Amino acid sequence: MSGERDDAGWLGRFASASGGVAAKQCFFTGFVLAMSLLLAVSRSSLVFSGPYLAAAAALVLMTVLTGVVRWASIPHGWIAVVPLFDIAAAGLMRDVFRADAAAVALFAFLPALWLAYAFGQRGNLMATAAVTLAISLPTVVRAFPDIDSVVITRSLLVPMVVAQMGFMVALARSRTLAERARTRALLGEKEELLSAAVTQERLMENIIDTIDMGILVLDRNGRVAMINRAHQELSRYASPPGQETPREADLLMRFPNTAIPVPEDQRPIARAADCETFSNYVVGFGPTRGRGRKVSTSARQIIDVDGQRDGAVIVFADVTPYFDAARRQQRFVAAVSHELRTPLTSILGYLDLVMDGGRVPAEDLAHLEVVSRNAEQLLTIVEDLLATQSVQDSGIEISRTSVDLSQLTRRAVESMRHEAQAKQLNVAESIDDTPEVSVDPSRMTQAIDNLLSNAVKYTPERGGITVSVREHHGAVEIRVSDTGIGMSPEEQTNLFTQYYRTPTARQHHIPGHGLGLSITKLIVLAHEGQISVRSTEGAGSTFTIRIPQLRRSSVS
Ligand code: ADP
Repeated sequence: MSGERDDAGWLGRFASASGGVAAKQCFFTGFVLAMSLLLAVSRSSLVFSGPYLAAAAALVLMTVLTGVVRWASIPHGWIAVVPLFDIAAAGLMRDVFRADAAAVALFAFLPALWLAYAFGQRGNLMATAAVTLAISLPTVVRAFPDIDSVVITRSLLVPMVVAQMGFMVALARSRTLAERARTRALLGEKEELLSAAVTQERLMENIIDTIDMGILVLDRNGRVAMINRAHQELSRYASPPGQETPREADLLMRFPNTAIPVPEDQRPIARAADCETFSNYVVGFGPTRGRGRKVSTSARQIIDVDGQRDGAVIVFADVTPYFDAARRQQRFVAAVSHELRTPLTSILGYLDLVMDGGRVPAEDLAHLEVVSRNAEQLLTIVEDLLATQSVQDSGIEISRTSVDLSQLTRRAVESMRHEAQAKQLNVAESIDDTPEVSVDPSRMTQAIDNLLSNAVKYTPERGGITVSVREHHGAVEIRVSDTGIGMSPEEQTNLFTQYYRTPTARQHHIPGHGLGLSITKLIVLAHEGQISVRSTEGAGSTFTIRIPQLRRSSVS
């Protein structure tokens, strides 16, 4: 069998239409010899006759030859020689068995089908012709001159059956070949698509790796599917010492300019895995002291062609240089503010003296009130700028004591009532008595004041404000709702970022400088609390502060 090239095993070679010559020939010769032995039991004189033995020997010889010939190196057509030879041998054997010819004639079937299998309808034609010559012709010749319709029918029967069976085999073969060609073409197409996809993926990986910004892709189960080089480098700043590949929860991550660690569920990857989309969410990477980076993070959800969520991509941009530049600018502004505060306080003091002196005519008093209001507003801005600067420099310092937040909120509402009345706003209160909590009273007042003054500022005249305090799930919840200008979902994403003002607020020409909410958030975080907002553009906003009752230790 050394001539066989096919390496799909003996059975594979046997089934191959173009190869397996030796295997098929072995099978045929074995079959003929076994049948001959059976025939020899009752017809030994015929089987052991010269022509029969010669045919059997020729078959054996041909079998040996098929094992020696290197079929792979000679043209495919030459294979036909073997089954044609077999048909001739079968014809010779059948001739010896003249009286019981029918059974021996069947020997020719196997090589005939082989031809049809190997060469299709062409092979079938060859086989029919060979069987006619090897079996039918001798029958007719032997019967000569007594040729009648029975002789003709008997002689034609074998080639006719061979032709029909061969036709079916050739048909099945051509179908199989067509199917195989189709499968091959499909496989080829798939391979091409696969290699195009691999090329695309490599290209994407290269592009992503050359980008300066960190990129991290999550799969639909929240597992990390891809990280680029920039993200790995950025993460190093936040890696705890001795940890090569820390989990996100172990990274040293703080709210910018504070020592307050970002809680696990508020970290960028956790938020993105929780199906959130956000932009410009700034966190500090690294320890409180020493080298660290300010990182702006944004996340988008990936939606597949069926509209299903397929994961998320998070982008990390190192914004430390911008923060440093902004800080330099803020220091300058703070220095100027500081210089402005003293003369402003003096102006306000003297204004009060003049206005309270009772010697100013009513008409001038109204003018002086405008001057005083504007000077006060200027002082508020100056104070805010200075407060922001002090937070930048030293973080929010809190000094905890036991405080009744309901009481504190009631007082804050009372102080803003005058302002609200000026705009004819309806102020409703729903303040429950709540247990005392350990907080910094002045910082909490500052936070609540900020929410209340925003509610007044961003609610048009004759609108409404509702303030509620309640105990909820182990926390005291302070809620300030208004029926004001509201915010779009995009505007809400950046709300607690310093100096951010919504386009809606700008369009309404409402004064402000975008610092109050960022300070409020820092105060709430310093108390390990949470602040959230729900708002609808044109319909109003609700800000909620939650301060947990059980305090572990004081945070500064
Ligand atoms: P300021 O009010 O001085 O601009 P804040 O930090 O308090 O600064 O608020 C930031 C921005 O958030 C505001 O400029 C405004 O666009 C928006 N905002 C805050 N509170 C409200 C509110 N109650 N309704 C609508 N927009 C608000």
